[in-house]
Amino acid sequence: MEKQGKMKFAVNGGIGFGAKLNAKQLMAISKYMEEDEELELTTFQQLYVEVSADKQEEVIEEFTKVGLACYPGGNYVKSLRTCNFCEGEEAEGMPVAKELNRRIAGKPVPVTLKAAYTGCAVGCGEPMLSDIGVMKNRDRFPVAHICPYA
Ligand code: SF4
Repeated sequence: MEKQGKMKFAVNGGIGFGAKLNAKQLMAISKYMEEDEELELTTFQQLYVEVSADKQEEVIEEFTKVGLACYPGGNYVKSLRTCNFCEGEEAEGMPVAKELNRRIAGKPVPVTLKAAYTGCAVGCGEPMLSDIGVMKNRDRFPVAHICPYA
């Protein structure tokens, strides 16, 4: 639930080798937190950040400059949960995952939609447990599962 005058949105370090954040990104986030505040790490590989509503634009601009990806919280398509691309960027189709994320993440939908991408059939990104799941298999990108609301 949003507190009075506060806006909640989700951030992560974008799609890469693992769901990582660097020191610059952590410092940018902590700059807007009080000492007793907490960050929520969601199952979507996102952190929920809460800031004053009047500062939201400024904060998103600052976060974007340090490479954080910002998404709305609530009834939107979530950013792709991905695997760690352990066999490499091209082999596991990271450009496809980035493009898919660019196209669907943050779109308003009637209910929250979870999306996942995984670079091989081992399925570390758990596409079968998501509303939209893509699992790369050699040179193909079969959709493993799609939610009836999508
Ligand atoms: S799904 Fe496949 S490519 Fe991705 S991290 Fe797991 S084993 Fe590696």
